[in-house]
This record gives sequence, structure tokens and C-alpha cells, in this order.
Amino acid sequence: MRRTRSKTHPAASQPRPDRALQSQEHDTYGLRGKLSDPTLCPTCGAIYRAGRWIWGTAPDDAQRTECPACRRSADDYPAGIVTVSGDFATEHREEIHNLVRHVEERERKEHALKRIIAMREDGDAFVITTTNARLARGIGEALHHAYQGELDYRFSEAENVMRVTWER
Ligand SMILES: [Zn+2]
Repeated sequence: MRRTRSKTHPAASQPRPDRALQSQEHDTYGLRGKLSDPTLCPTCGAIYRAGRWIWGTAPDDAQRTECPACRRSADDYPAGIVTVSGDFATEHREEIHNLVRHVEERERKEHALKRIIAMREDGDAFVITTTNARLARGIGEALHHAYQGELDYRFSEAENVMRVTWER
């Protein structure tokens, strides 16, 4: 398990601090090397072109295969898990909910595979699961930027998931 506290962590000065995240994109959900160009995801409409999934239009005869984000959502197999807790978070649930959705919308516009799988209450906490590890981290950073509080994130190589916690 690798722990990453902040951008000032010594790991941040290494040439490729996100190597674990990059390698994660080559996991079984990446389907790399097996797809025709272009391929259309029949579920969300994303297109695989020139090595990545993007938003756009595909020709009618394009191959059809579900994209990694849709497959992760269908399997409920998140790449990122954000756990939000604390009294402030409970009192400001709706605001936080809106902020999280806003971050997802902004990211998804640019990166077709960055999506929220689910948002649910879990005891006193609020849990957001994502199709992409960087999106989970981005949500944590946005919460921290907006409301301060305690942010922590760690990438578990064993589980291949980014776990983010934010508490206030
Ligand atoms: Zn899709």
C-alpha cells in the first residue's frame, strides 16, 4: 500500500508520481490492444479512437464494445472510493452532493471515462464510487479546497483502488 498525503510528499518530486495510476489504466478494464479504431460504446456513446475513449460521433459500421467506465459501473467495480464524514459534512450534505456532481461533470466533459458509479449513505458517512482513480482524488481535493477539513488519499496496489477520505 502506497500512501500519498499531499503534493509536498517526497513522492511528488519523483519523475512519475502517478505511475501506479497509469499502470492501473492498463488493467483488464482498459481492453488495450483489442479494440478496433473506432469502437463505439453502445451504453454511453463514447468512442475509442487513436488509443483512447473520447466523446464524439462514430460511423454506423463502427465496432461496438462497452467502454471500461460502463463495464466498471455495471460490475460495480470502482477504481476510486471517496468517503466523506464528519458533522459539517452531514449538515452540508446537499452542498457537498452538488459540488461532487459538479466536479464529475467538469471532468467527464474532458475525459470520457471519468464518472461517478454511485453515491450512497453508509452509516454516518457519504460514499462516492468512481470509474477512475484520478476523479476520486479530484473530488477529495475539491472538497478540501472548498471547505478545508482533513483530506487523505492512498492508492492500494493490492486492491487496485484509490481510497480517498475527507472529514470535517
Ligand atoms: Zn460506455
